[in-house]
Amino acid sequence: TSWSHEVAMAQVQRPLIIQSHIIKACCPIARRSLLPRHRVQRLHTRTVTDHDISHLASLPLYPLTLADLVKHGRPPLTTQQLLTSANFTLSILPARLAHRIQSLRNLPFIVVSNPHVSKIHANYIHSLSTLLPWAEHEITSLEDEIKFTEVMADLVQTHSNTISILARGFLEARKYISPRDVTCFLDEHLRARIGTRLIAEQHLSLHFSSQPHAEIMHESDETPGFIGVIDTKLKPAGIVDHCANIVGEICELKYGVRPSVVINGEPDYTFAHVPAHLEYIMTELLKNAFRATVENGNEREPIEVTIAPKDLHGVTSNEEAFSKFDSNLRNTKQGNTDIASSSFTGALTSSSPKSDAQILPLKYSTPGVTIRIRDRGGGISPENLAHIWNYSFTTFNEDQASSSLTGGGSGSGMDALNAMTGPGGDGVNSLAGLGYGLPLGRAYAEYFGGGIEVKSLWGWGTDVYLKLRGVGRVDRE
Ligand code: ADP
Ligand code: MG
Repeated sequence: TSWSHEVAMAQVQRPLIIQSHIIKACCPIARRSLLPRHRVQRLHTRTVTDHDISHLASLPLYPLTLADLVKHGRPPLTTQQLLTSANFTLSILPARLAHRIQSLRNLPFIVVSNPHVSKIHANYIHSLSTLLPWAEHEITSLEDEIKFTEVMADLVQTHSNTISILARGFLEARKYISPRDVTCFLDEHLRARIGTRLIAEQHLSLHFSSQPHAEIMHESDETPGFIGVIDTKLKPAGIVDHCANIVGEICELKYGVRPSVVINGEPDYTFAHVPAHLEYIMTELLKNAFRATVENGNEREPIEVTIAPKDLHGVTSNEEAFSKFDSNLRNTKQGNTDIASSSFTGALTSSSPKSDAQILPLKYSTPGVTIRIRDRGGGISPENLAHIWNYSFTTFNEDQASSSLTGGGSGSGMDALNAMTGPGGDGVNSLAGLGYGLPLGRAYAEYFGGGIEVKSLWGWGTDVYLKLRGVGRVDRE
């Protein structure tokens, strides 16, 4: 019993462990961004009017690139660089929030009236109200920059549970909106959220890693490759290993067995990316592979993860790459320039804009990685294959869900919801159940021009190809 007690305890603590790992990985001192509540209440706000929203939402959205996130330089930043980062952040956020508010308001009224959905609307209004007082003037003093950083901390914190809240809301409102419309809304909303969060977290991280005491905190860090939330020496094999351990524990607790994971290809490869994103995606893909393998009675067959580095520079023109991931094209037609497609273009052309070159001469090639996850889990039936990219499509049995770790309950996906945490907010504690793993994982991958492709060999197993594009070398030349 002591063994299972230990595992159970590890399980209970897991969300915290994962979160602190992610926080450490993407921002060694981001803990400090979680400012105490009393500070939050002191934030200066300005009432948001309908005019504010329609005006801001009419502004074009700035297409964020990985290059944007590193252009202010390596921490510690000078005061001037910090102010530039703050003003850059301020210049893009209000329009993004206004777009989200507008898109929420375009949902059927009965859906927006759902308490969970309307909570999200209220969160956006709150965040916009904390930004409006800043919108009219530039941030020119360190004092203001500190106050602005508090606004960013509040923004990140306010929206940290968005995914579980929205999932709950749409589950309750499912009678009034089609799965297709839900997927359409969530795809746009959650993709936009990835960028907004990243912009705010990047400034927070740059701010705190530029404080005088930051040096001490960096000392214990073995890989000083971080520029804010980007790890310029991100090792995919390390993330795979870490995620396989976590998913393995969950799997063992649920099924009593765990398949092994074999990493091959080039495990030493490193590139520049956002570790929290890779970690989210990898956890979801491994959960699917583990579950299928065990449910198919093949737990003795290892799951094979192959790391294949690829220097995408010169290999893919924009158009070629776009047609490779036709989902990117799907996004452009929504006119939603703050998502994958545009950031992709930006990443490829980032060596040309003057703004980047002026601030820091960086060399951008566009290396990337393809990670193949191969399982013997029996594959996906052709009928199901058509639905796997829909938010909330799952073949996970609800009875199983209710008997899972999240502690009894009513089934219907709520158990998975109860366990949600992490950067994507998906159920870290449960192996499956929400149906958000694949679509949200793909949203993360596509954000910077990557993608996910699923190839099912029905009756045998599944190959999932995750492609990620790096920011290129970010060392000063
Ligand atoms: P969830 O895991 O919560 O069900 P996902 O979006 O991760 O949601 O996956 C949706 C569905 O796709 C799963 O329920 C499963 O039926 C199918 N699926 C995904 N990956 C695999 C895989 N590797 N092998 C077999 N089926 C899979
Ligand atoms: Mg899943």
